[in-house]
Amino acid sequence: MRKTALSHEILMTVDKPARYIGGEFNSVMKDLNEIDIRFCMCFPDVYEIGMSHLGIQILYAMFNSFKDTWCERVYSPWPDLDKIMRDKNIPLFSLESQDPVKDFDFLGITLQYEMCYTNILQILELAQIPVWAKDRSEDDPIVIGGGPCSYNPEPIAEFFDMFYIGEGEVAYRELLDLYKECKRNGYSREDFLYKATKIDGIYVPSLINVEYNEDFTIKEFTPVKEGVRTTVKKEVETDLNDSFYPVKPIIPFIKATQDRITLEIMRGCPRGCRFCQAGQLYRPIRTRDVEVLKEFARQMIENSGYEEINLSSLSSSDYPELKELILYLIDYCNEKKVNISLPSLRIDAFSLDVMSKVQDIKKSSLTFVETRFFRRME
Ligand code: SF4
Repeated sequence: MRKTALSHEILMTVDKPARYIGGEFNSVMKDLNEIDIRFCMCFPDVYEIGMSHLGIQILYAMFNSFKDTWCERVYSPWPDLDKIMRDKNIPLFSLESQDPVKDFDFLGITLQYEMCYTNILQILELAQIPVWAKDRSEDDPIVIGGGPCSYNPEPIAEFFDMFYIGEGEVAYRELLDLYKECKRNGYSREDFLYKATKIDGIYVPSLINVEYNEDFTIKEFTPVKEGVRTTVKKEVETDLNDSFYPVKPIIPFIKATQDRITLEIMRGCPRGCRFCQAGQLYRPIRTRDVEVLKEFARQMIENSGYEEINLSSLSSSDYPELKELILYLIDYCNEKKVNISLPSLRIDAFSLDVMSKVQDIKKSSLTFVETRFFRRME
């Protein structure tokens, strides 16, 4: 029987115990004797929301494809369990091994929206990891932030040991290799953080002093140590066809917010609206080859048992081979009894013919976005 960090009495008390027991289909278990690095990936929100996030699934599968690394997951406990954990002094634990997060080498926190910032503090407190980066010791995990909000890290910089700025597929391997080398040679946490600043995309707040103007805009960045760069370039995955994709998605025991396969067809948006955070952050636009997508779709349907596939991107109608992909999926999904969902369409660029065909399949859904372009008055 699986070991659980929470007793059966506690699990029977809290709402939706399946949020905390792990063991989901396609989740990964490894032998601790065969790995060098333990990475705990955190989505600082409730399980059902975190399990709906594609970025975590990509990084989870990518890290676990590395022989020397075991990546596990943790989400924010619901307030009922939060109270019990604090009262009974139970440290926050990962879903896979059910081990305390504080025993890991890394705690990676994805920063998807500012509303979750207070949840980050909850995660650190429950994990019994010092909230301020300056108070952490050699025994604490390296707390690393990533995702869209890490592009503006200063408001939360003092809680993180480092930020990874850009797309996770690019530089994590280099960072893990550096960590292994530092561990092997007995280097300190401080040495590792300093060496990590040499890796593109890595920002270590403790090694850069930030001065502010009176209006709280940034006046100056000054390195604390010689050799620390004050400009960090975001990392961009240049070839999506060659990048890692989670063709074996983890299937939760309870209904997640996005209860379907997510097939990312492209990254970035050609429209470039100035007000759109995602449109700016995910530049430049990159597409996946239609044949690669057909293969991913087949594998994910076979490996998951989901009844719906969602074509994900910022503005799906701008995917150049959308018609070919949809016509293929209509045939394949009809046979497999799988619905197609297109959540981000612009009506102007989508053929009515394809639209009507998609709607013929069971309960397939189309969502149209309205974009208004604001022009400067001359
Ligand atoms: S079209 Fe939509 S996704 Fe693309 S940049 Fe504009 S608002 Fe953002």
